[in-house]
Amino acid sequence: MSLPTYAEIKKVVDGMQIPTKAFIGGKFVSALSGKTIPSMSPITGEKLADFAACGKEDVDAAVKCAQKVFNSGVWSKMHPTERKKILLKYADLIEQHTVELGVLESMDSGKPVSDCITIDVPEGVHALRWHAEYADKNYGLFSPSGDSSVGMITKEAIGVVACIIPWNFPLMTTLWKLAPSLAEGNSIIIKPASNTTLSTLRLVEYATEAGLPEGVIQVITGSGSIVGEALGMHEGVGAISFTGSTEIGRKLLEYSSKSNLKKIVLELGGKSPMVILDDVKDLSNAVNNALFSSFWNSGQSCTANSRIFVPENRKEEFVELMVASLNETWKIGNPLNPEFNYGTLISEAHFKTVMAHMDQAIKEGHRMVCGGKALTIEKGLFIAPTIFVDPTPNSDLMKTELFGPITSVIGVKSNEEAIEKANDTEYGLQATIFTEDLRSAHKYARAIKAGTVSINRYCEGDITTPFGGLKMSGFGGQDNAAAAHDQYTEVKTIFIDLDA
Ligand code: NAP
Ligand code: MG
Repeated sequence: MSLPTYAEIKKVVDGMQIPTKAFIGGKFVSALSGKTIPSMSPITGEKLADFAACGKEDVDAAVKCAQKVFNSGVWSKMHPTERKKILLKYADLIEQHTVELGVLESMDSGKPVSDCITIDVPEGVHALRWHAEYADKNYGLFSPSGDSSVGMITKEAIGVVACIIPWNFPLMTTLWKLAPSLAEGNSIIIKPASNTTLSTLRLVEYATEAGLPEGVIQVITGSGSIVGEALGMHEGVGAISFTGSTEIGRKLLEYSSKSNLKKIVLELGGKSPMVILDDVKDLSNAVNNALFSSFWNSGQSCTANSRIFVPENRKEEFVELMVASLNETWKIGNPLNPEFNYGTLISEAHFKTVMAHMDQAIKEGHRMVCGGKALTIEKGLFIAPTIFVDPTPNSDLMKTELFGPITSVIGVKSNEEAIEKANDTEYGLQATIFTEDLRSAHKYARAIKAGTVSINRYCEGDITTPFGGLKMSGFGGQDNAAAAHDQYTEVKTIFIDLDA
């Protein structure tokens, strides 16, 4: 879709009704305690709204409502084709509100509105349509159990599923989880990140309009340590699909083990590598992908390629091209102005964390070729895109997920050394390889330990490919593709004796 002008976006901002209440049983409600949490703009530093600070009692009410609706069969037993129709209508409604949702997402997160309107909302809608279509195509199996019995391997909805969402791609991640879980007939509870509650609360308004029965979706806003823990410990929740940090992922496994052994699927952090093999002649494609993967969403991306391995004899050329292209194509400014493609960080707390890593790296004396500082643009939380070269192997730059606009280029003497160093991490989410040779592409893609390896373009695959991490980047399942439906279903065997 064509982008609105800045003047048109400002009008949308001025007229925006900001949603603040939790959503339980089809109604927007305050927290039972009446408590609220302020939602701060990372662009202006001003308060956008106060949203409901739900507690354990609100979680309990939402779970009970979701259970009742699930047991009633109004959604869970609806014919899959009918569920599909409602979800497709829901996708149409979201699409019709692309600008409103994109602007709300940008106001809340400081992401460039151009990305929100052209990537986040359309990708989310595409995911919703894909999984809706799958609602009546997810077959079971027959087992090879011989002539005297029939073994049927079926898939059943779990019941009440909770989806815990991070702040870096709030709307898209919500739709990645909501779509397959609803397509399979579950009742769901969404817990948005406290930094980004707004787009999720607006999304659910359109669910009712699309015909989803009341109580099939609830949204519980509030602090992760209260609401997230209450969901994790609740005996009525059958599964949790989580995207966020490895630290909180571990906690969810603990909650599950201390409560009802609910199914836990974790999409976690990364320290993803990009490897430019020694056969690449023209570096420009790799350079532009290195910049995009490092600085898209101000580096707050779980697959950010923050370790870029380049043949030693091409390193200086690569770095020069990176800095030149960065200056030419990356426009930093108010993210609500569609002319800019680089916005703020999410919150003051996160800004301080990233700046502390930056200051530490500078103090340690690693070579830095650009950035290295905060930028004063209005009152926004901006950090300049920063490139280090050849940091020491055990530095934070090489080991820690910084989740900000800081990347490193590392010179290597051979392809083998590049792959060995690429694998020298506790994470295994994504990796990108550049090569002009088909055999090398296959050989080195197999050698890298990551859930997704993309060749000649930084990407996470698409909706038809499972997305999840190896090692400390993931646990228990994947988002996207048919694999996502496995998160939200349980396998049941039905065995019939034909001789009895
Ligand atoms: P986070 O602190 O782990 O928060 C994620 C979600 O968990 C938020 O909704 C948060 O709520 C909630 N939460 C916090 N404490 C909790 C608890 N004790 N129990 C249950 N839930 C709790 O991560 P983040 O800072 O939002 O996101 C950044 C991290 O997520 C990075 O490490 C990044 O790599 C990872 N990430 C991974 C993927 C992927 O697909 N693999 C995608 C995006 C991000 P509050 O906001 O209220 O604290
Ligand atoms: Mg916010």
